[in-house]
Amino acid sequence: MLDSPAPSRETRDPPLIEKTALVLDRLPGEPFDIPYAHIEGRNGAGPHLTLLAGMHGGEYTSMAAVRRFIAEVDVDQLRGSVTAVPLVNQPAFWSRSAFVVPADGKNLNRCFPGDPDGSYSEAIAHEVFTAFIRPADYLIDMHAGDIFEALEPFCLYEESAVEDRARDLALAYGHGHVVRQSRASRTVGGSTSSAAADLGIPAIIAEIGANGLCDEASVAGHLRGIRRVCAHLEMLPPVEAAPAATPVEYNGWVWMRSTVQGWWQPRVAVGDQVRAGDELGSLLDPFGAELEKVIAPADGCPLFLTTSPAVLADGLLLGLAKP
Ligand SMILES: [Zn+2]
Repeated sequence: MLDSPAPSRETRDPPLIEKTALVLDRLPGEPFDIPYAHIEGRNGAGPHLTLLAGMHGGEYTSMAAVRRFIAEVDVDQLRGSVTAVPLVNQPAFWSRSAFVVPADGKNLNRCFPGDPDGSYSEAIAHEVFTAFIRPADYLIDMHAGDIFEALEPFCLYEESAVEDRARDLALAYGHGHVVRQSRASRTVGGSTSSAAADLGIPAIIAEIGANGLCDEASVAGHLRGIRRVCAHLEMLPPVEAAPAATPVEYNGWVWMRSTVQGWWQPRVAVGDQVRAGDELGSLLDPFGAELEKVIAPADGCPLFLTTSPAVLADGLLLGLAKP
């Protein structure tokens, strides 16, 4: 009698870090792939966390942090699984387009949960939502200030049935500022976090970095945030003995827009505390005469601010987080 055969190569376990790609070949336009990693922990069953980065083309710190997480994660310590997507918005990234997808001029993070029969961006959102967000137990969508945007690090979560768990993720991420967005005042409807919240998936948008730079401190800040959330979910051991500082919490935004086209000259910086009535900046004509004075309508803290002087009528100037 023959000895039983050795196991064939085909029957061995799947890799613990599978690097693959989502193929988007049914879009109403140029097809493309979104590379991602699926990381299966060896430390027992646990939650499935999705990390998204590069939803906007010039927010490089998020992309570098997710790439580094994939390279550094210890699967022997990881409990549960992570789907990590280093660069969602390939068309905006390669065209160096801030905020919008060039093919249809839409902001991808206003298109969720998406529409397979909609425009180019809406179809991308549908594919991303179906492949990466719907199957998740938790979601971190990582951003930064885009190419023309200064930003003070913050996390945002949505009013929802799971908002307590989403708030815990935001506090665990460990930035100085946490903003809750009520359903009634969703300034940014159609975002990943609002679409996830509507499905009962605790989700945050985490923002560090600015102006299309990829500085090491911001990349490290994002990476530390991911690890703190993993520790909070008991997916990885704690990485630091000292807890993060307690963030300041805010209740929504005033998104301030210009009424005229002009040269934007801000008088405040991100992270400043401003009071109702304070002058936040001006829109100037070609010779420097003031066309519009921008006044704070409420107390708050500018967490992001347009740094390009070129602002069209109804252009976004800054986001004032309200205490
Ligand atoms: Zn963004």
